[in-house]
Amino acid sequence: MILAFKFRFMSDSPGVPILDLGRNHQPIQAELEAAFHRVLTGGQFILGPEVTAFEKECADYLGVKHALGVSSGTDALTLAMMALGIGPGDEVIVPSYTFFATAGCVSRLGAVPVFADSTFCCYNISPAEIEKKVTAKTKAIMPVHLFGQSADLDPIRKLAEEKGLFLIEDAAQAIGAKYRGRHVGTFGHFGCFSFFPTKNLGALGDAGLITTNDDRLAAEARLLRTHGDAGTYFHEKIGANFRIDALQAALLRVKLRHLDASAAGRQKNARIYLEKFQRSGQAGFPVEACACRDDSFRLPGNPPPILLPFSCQPDHVYNQFVVLFTQAGARDRVQKHLHSKKIGARIYYPVPLHAQPCFAPLTGRRDAFPFSDYAAGHSLALPIFPELLEDEIDLVANEIIAALH
Ligand SMILES: *Cc1c(COP(=O)(O)O)cnc(C)c1O
Repeated sequence: MILAFKFRFMSDSPGVPILDLGRNHQPIQAELEAAFHRVLTGGQFILGPEVTAFEKECADYLGVKHALGVSSGTDALTLAMMALGIGPGDEVIVPSYTFFATAGCVSRLGAVPVFADSTFCCYNISPAEIEKKVTAKTKAIMPVHLFGQSADLDPIRKLAEEKGLFLIEDAAQAIGAKYRGRHVGTFGHFGCFSFFPTKNLGALGDAGLITTNDDRLAAEARLLRTHGDAGTYFHEKIGANFRIDALQAALLRVKLRHLDASAAGRQKNARIYLEKFQRSGQAGFPVEACACRDDSFRLPGNPPPILLPFSCQPDHVYNQFVVLFTQAGARDRVQKHLHSKKIGARIYYPVPLHAQPCFAPLTGRRDAFPFSDYAAGHSLALPIFPELLEDEIDLVANEIIAALH
């Protein structure tokens, strides 16, 4: 293992992958294989003891009353909205700057996603923008804890309470992140998590989780997860198949035990990047203090070439480490340079949701989304996975700085 890494760094273009799941799984391979064998010989492949145990371990980890394993993060969002009775005629406020599923699920249920812009300090939905989007048809607010950092939940919860709206947290990228010391995904009527392999807790396939502290909503979600079947083919409601595989649950039980150590690795890598970029004299933060509650987007006057990710919340778990390149054309130039050096770097997200062709008929298109548009044009995600070596971080940072000149 060590020899292999040494050899890589002696070659001309060692490269750095954006994510290397092999390095994540190699040290726990025996534990994963034991979990696989337990399911293989146990013979229960749908729900059953592995799923029940995984759900209890997730509920304990998060500090929430109910956790239900589901088929994906997308299905977690869909199931949450179905359990809340959201459908045609309803509006759900979502950020424009997020992964497609956040809004796609709303449309799939016949409701309308209403887009709100995000804030410059943490890339999360702006509470002030949400307030502007509330109408008589609004049923729910769905903040996303983007890139592994909590949205500013206090004003969002207050608004939801005042207006009688449901709060659904899209915590797909943020398991382990906290807001004021409490786990995200435990504040809303529902919290929704994804275990897609690239998320901080990744399955070996598709899987997800929904959480709630409400007994009635938990029972409703449980019923809808299995075609609304209250047992013995008696259907009280129309649900679907939203179940997690027992095999994924068993594998995820192993990975959940290592989740906090992985998050600590991501946080350490983020600190190393931040120090290196700051020392380069080419980088700074977009704000001096959290500005989530400002309702106007503005670049700092005379910004440095690189704007670093700012932590509004101390418990950022860095599912992505995203920087902004302020100079015209710099982001694309840097990405091309990194790719030529076999360094992974991705754009999250190149087209904000308000500008997606499939949402063109929606109201959101008429509004302005200055932050989302800016981020789509200037952001780049760098390798941040927990097992990244300091030499690799050095290489990424040095190549970026070289590409700027
Ligand atoms: C990944 C993701 C989802 C969807 O999760 P899947 O498990 O891939 O279906 C939803 N919302 C956000 C913000 C995501 O990043």
